[in-house]
Amino acid sequence: MRVARFSHGGDPVFGVVELAADGGPNPDTVAVVTGDPLAGPVHYTGERIDLAEVRLLSPVIPRSKVIGVGRNYAAHAAELGNTVPDLPLTFFKPNTSVIGPGEAIVRPPETSNLHFEGELAVVIGRISRRVPRERAAEVIFGYTVANDVTARDLQQTDGQWTRAKGFDTFCPLGPWIVTHLGLDEVADLEVTTTLNGETRQQGNTSAMTYQVADLIAHISDFTTLLPGDVILTGTPAGVGPMVAGDEVTVSIEGIGTLTNPVVGQES
Ligand code: ZN
Repeated sequence: MRVARFSHGGDPVFGVVELAADGGPNPDTVAVVTGDPLAGPVHYTGERIDLAEVRLLSPVIPRSKVIGVGRNYAAHAAELGNTVPDLPLTFFKPNTSVIGPGEAIVRPPETSNLHFEGELAVVIGRISRRVPRERAAEVIFGYTVANDVTARDLQQTDGQWTRAKGFDTFCPLGPWIVTHLGLDEVADLEVTTTLNGETRQQGNTSAMTYQVADLIAHISDFTTLLPGDVILTGTPAGVGPMVAGDEVTVSIEGIGTLTNPVVGQES
């Protein structure tokens, strides 16, 4: 199932996306549901809308947190002169950094080196604390695509990454949450980032040092995960700068494609 959050002229609602490519209706359609799929059971209203006619929003607004993971792909760690850490290296992004598909990433005046980082994102479905690795699948609601936008210059000068990773608009998520993939499947997905149509990152989740179950076990050992919390699993090699006027697209095989324009902010 692909769970989308969208607006169609009114308040945001949730729906289930049905793609023609999967044998669904043609054109692609979203079936409207009542309630929030992350909060409990939902019911189809019977209304179906062409996907092209809705504005997709971030499929989730994390209630409490987005947890990022640094240096989880050896080739990316190496390109910035780092090694893979002995334990997952984690940081928080505030939920106010989250934006949806098509929304603008705003370059703040404090940075002159704004980078894209295409990443697999895990959406948590249950309140969870100290989840053993072998039970990680039970607490996952689904997966989406993320861009862990980073002010690379501030990441280096600040030491702590909170500001470099935490500006408003620095966490595009979408286009929807895929709930039908197993841990084995998400351990072998192509992750591709293009800038203005040119491929910049081409990696595979199989190269992650710490896999999704490792990350959930490690993170839930120090913080309680809540439904709607999001874990960004780290980025493959090829990160690089974006400037105002650029368009950045992150695609993950079997999940979807997330595109955002970049704009500048004077101050
Ligand atoms: Zn990242």
